[in-house]
Amino acid sequence: RKWVYTFADGMAEGSAADVALLGGKGANLAEMSRIGLPVPPGFTITTDACNRALQDGEISKRVRDQVDAALRHCEIMSGKKFGATSNPLVVSVRSGARVSMPGMMDTVLNLGLNDETVEALSEQSGDERFAYDTYRRFIQMYATVVMGCDHGLFEDILDEARESAGALRDNELDVDDLRKVVKAYKHAIQDDLDETFPQDPKEQLWRTVEAVFKSWNNPRAVTYRALHNIPVEWGTAVTVQAMVFGNSGPNSATGVAFTRNPSTGENILFGEFLVDAQGEDVVAGFRTPDPLSIVSDKPGASMQERLPESYKTLISLANDLEQHFGDMQDIEFTVEAGRLWLLQTRAGKRTAKAAIRIAIEMANNNVITRQTALMRVDASSLDQLLHPSIDPNAQRKIIASGLPASPGAACGEIVFSSADAVAAKAEGRSVILVRPETSPDDIHGMEAAVGILTSRGGMTSHAAVVARGMGKPCITGAGGMRIDKHNKALVAGGVMLRGGDYLTLDGNKGQVLEGKLPMVDSELSGDFATLMAWSDAERRLKVRTNADTPTEAKVARNFQADGIGLCRTEHMFTEGERSNIMREMIVAESEEERRAVLDRLMPMQRSDFIELFEIMQGQPVAIRLFDPPLHEFLPKDEDSILKSAKALGIDGAKMMRRVEELREINPMLGNRGVRLAICFPEIAEMQTRAIFEAAILAGRKSGELVVPEIVVPLVAYNAELEYIRARIDKVADDVMAAHDQKIEYLVGCIIELPRAAIRAELIAQSADFFSFGTNDLTQTTLGISRDDASTFLSTYLRKGVIQLDPFINLDVEGVGELMRIATERGRKAKPKLLLGITGEHGGDPTSITFCDNLGLDYVSCSPYRVPIARLAAAQAAI
Ligand code: PEP
Ligand code: MG
Repeated sequence: RKWVYTFADGMAEGSAADVALLGGKGANLAEMSRIGLPVPPGFTITTDACNRALQDGEISKRVRDQVDAALRHCEIMSGKKFGATSNPLVVSVRSGARVSMPGMMDTVLNLGLNDETVEALSEQSGDERFAYDTYRRFIQMYATVVMGCDHGLFEDILDEARESAGALRDNELDVDDLRKVVKAYKHAIQDDLDETFPQDPKEQLWRTVEAVFKSWNNPRAVTYRALHNIPVEWGTAVTVQAMVFGNSGPNSATGVAFTRNPSTGENILFGEFLVDAQGEDVVAGFRTPDPLSIVSDKPGASMQERLPESYKTLISLANDLEQHFGDMQDIEFTVEAGRLWLLQTRAGKRTAKAAIRIAIEMANNNVITRQTALMRVDASSLDQLLHPSIDPNAQRKIIASGLPASPGAACGEIVFSSADAVAAKAEGRSVILVRPETSPDDIHGMEAAVGILTSRGGMTSHAAVVARGMGKPCITGAGGMRIDKHNKALVAGGVMLRGGDYLTLDGNKGQVLEGKLPMVDSELSGDFATLMAWSDAERRLKVRTNADTPTEAKVARNFQADGIGLCRTEHMFTEGERSNIMREMIVAESEEERRAVLDRLMPMQRSDFIELFEIMQGQPVAIRLFDPPLHEFLPKDEDSILKSAKALGIDGAKMMRRVEELREINPMLGNRGVRLAICFPEIAEMQTRAIFEAAILAGRKSGELVVPEIVVPLVAYNAELEYIRARIDKVADDVMAAHDQKIEYLVGCIIELPRAAIRAELIAQSADFFSFGTNDLTQTTLGISRDDASTFLSTYLRKGVIQLDPFINLDVEGVGELMRIATERGRKAKPKLLLGITGEHGGDPTSITFCDNLGLDYVSCSPYRVPIARLAAAQAAI
C-alpha cells in the first residue's frame, strides 16, 4: 500500500485528482509540479496514514520506511542532505486537509536545523545572520507546536532582544543578537519543560509528523469542523518539502496572491508580501505587509517596484494557474535570492459578491459553463448580499480607518474578547469584536460577533481570511486606534469608547464609525440579477415564500417568489388590538359569543387577504386555517390574566376560569390545527368566507385570476380533512352564488404527522395538494420538541451523536423517508397531486436538493431566503 507520494521538478506521483488522499495542499503541489511550475521538491504522507496513526497511536514501520525513501528522493532532487554538516536539507512540515481549514492545524518550518547544521547553512548561504534567524524561528515553532511550550515565552525573549539592540523589527537584529536569542530559547525550553530541545533531525521530523497528525483533533480544528460540517474521518495529510528561504536578504520575500480581488471579484492580481520574511510573518499579522502592485499611498513599497522581475514572473504564473485550475486561485509564494517559488495554490476564499462576479465573468469568457458558474456560488452565502448597508444619508463620524478586509456593514456593542462576544450573543446582543489581531482561538468569538475590527494585520491576516469566509464585515490594520487593555477601552479619533458602546463598521470602505448608524436595504441588480436569471433558467422547482404580512409578501415578491406557500393566519393576530380580538375568540364560552367575535374578525381577514392577493399579482397564495397552539395567545399568570380581562371588558373571574379550562399540559400536541376547526367549525367557516370574498374582490379589481389554496393543518385522519373540506366547499358555493361568480380553488393539507404520511393515499383522495410541514413532521417523527430541542441537541452535535441539526437540515433518513412514502402514496391516488414543502427546511440548500430529487413541485421559505432557494433549486437541477 502506498502511503507517501513524492513530487519534484516536472514530475509527481499524485495529481489534483488525489485531493482526498493528499489533502488540498498536497494534491495541488503535485499538480503544479507535474505541469512544470517552480515547486521545491518534497512528498506528501496520505490522510490514510494519518487516520491509521491516530487509530494505532503510532506511525507504522511501513509508513516510516516509505517516508525514509521519499526523503532520500527529496535529497537527490534538491542536491542537499538532511542532517548533513555541509549543504544540509532543511524542510517544512505542513498539514493539509481535503478542504482548507485556515490556521486550524499545525505546521513547522525550517526543520532539520541544529547546532551543527545551522553552521552548515551559514556556510552554504554565506550569510550567518540568516542562518541564525532561521534556526531561532525553527526552535520557536517546534517548541510551541510539537513540545507544547507557551508562545509568549519566545515573544518575551524576542522583545527583550529587540529592546537591548534598539531594533524596531526582527530583521534588524544582528548575528550576535540572534545567537543570544537561540541560547535563551533553548534555556527557556529546558526551564519550562525540563526537556532538552532535540538535536537529532530525524527525531525532530518524526515528532513533528506525529504532532501534525494529532493537530487534526485539536480543539480549534474540532470546532472548525463542526462549523463547516467536515467529517472527522477525512483526516489530514502531511507535506514535507525542501525549504526555500524568503528570509535570506533584501532580494528575498514571501507573500500571498489572489488571482482576483477576493472582496469584489475584480480581475486584477491582489495580495501582499513582506521582504526578508517567512510565510508565517504574513498571516500572523505581527508585521503589516506591503501590496503586490503599485498603490499611490505607499510609493516604493510594492513588490512591483522592489522586486520587478519576480513580480512579472508571479503575474504570469498566476495566469497559468487560473487557466489550469479554471478558478480564482489563492497562491503562496516565496522569493529566494531573486528566484520565485510556488508553495501552495488553492481555490481562493471569496465573499459572495466576489464569487458571483468571478463566476459570471469566467462564464462570459467561456472559461467555465453557466452551469459551473452557478455551482461555484455557495447558495447560503447569498445571505451576505441580502442584508442592509449603511444609509448613504447617514452622518458618519469616522474615528479610525483600516483595510477593508471583508465587506458589508455591521453595527453593535464593543467587546474586547471572544469570550465576551459569545456571552453577549447568548443574551441576544449584537457585538463587534475588537482585537489587536485574531488567532484561530478566536473562532468562537468571530462566529458570535456581527463584525470584526483589528488594529494590526493585513488583507490576508487571520481575521481577514476567516471573516470573509464567514461573510462578516471586517476591518484590519486600523493602526490609528489603540486598544487600552487595562481600562477595557478603545481610543481612536479623539474619543474613548468602552465595552458596550456602539460602533459601526463599513467593511467596504474600511471605516470605523462611532455610534449606531441607520441601515438601508441592499441593491440587487447587476451581477446578482444575472445570477438569478441564470438560476431560473435551470431550476425545475418553484420557489414560494412563507409570508403572513404584506411587508413580508412584498419582500418576497421583490425577490421574485413564485407565490405564497404558507400564510400562517394566526400570525396576523399577534399584535396590539388584534391580539385582543384573538383572545376574545379563544375565551368565548358559547358558539354565539364566538360568532359575535368572528363577525368582527371577518372584515379584517378579508382586507388582509385582498392585500396579499394584490401583492402576489396572480401567483398562487396558500392560506392556512388557524393553527394556534392556544397557550401562545393566552396570558399566563394571574396578574396578566386580570389585566387582559380588563382590556377585553370581560369579567376577571370568568377569564380566570376559561384560561384554566383551556390550559393544556402539552399544547403542541393539543387542540390546534384541524382539531380546532372540528371543535369550532364556525372559525374555519369565517376564514373561508374571508378568503373567497377576498379572492373575488381582488380578482375583479386587478383583472388577475386569483386561485386561492386553503391549507388544513395537523391532519392525521382523512376523515378530518373530509369533515372540514365539506364545510369549505359549502361556504365557497355560498360566496360564489352571492357574488354570482365561479372561481377555481384548491383545498389541501399539511403533512406534518407521521400518520398522515403513511395514510397519504387515502388522504390524497380529499386533497388537491399536500405541503410538507417539516417543522412539525421533524418534531413528531423524532419525538423532539421543537421549542426545547436546543438544550440537548447542541450536546448531541458536540459529542458527534448526530452530525446535523434536524430542525435546520432535513433528517433525510427519517423525516425524508416519510416524505418519500407520502409522495409515492399520494401520487398513487392522484398522479398530479401538487406537492410542496413549507417547513424551515424549504430554505436550506441541502434539503432543497432532496426535495428536487423527490419530485416536489415547490419549496417555500422565508422571504429573505427566496434568492438562496432559487440558486439552490438550480444547483439541484444541474
Ligand atoms: C411546519 O410544521 O413545518 C409548518 C410549516 O407549520 P408551523 O411551523 O407553523 O407549525
Ligand atoms: Mg406545523
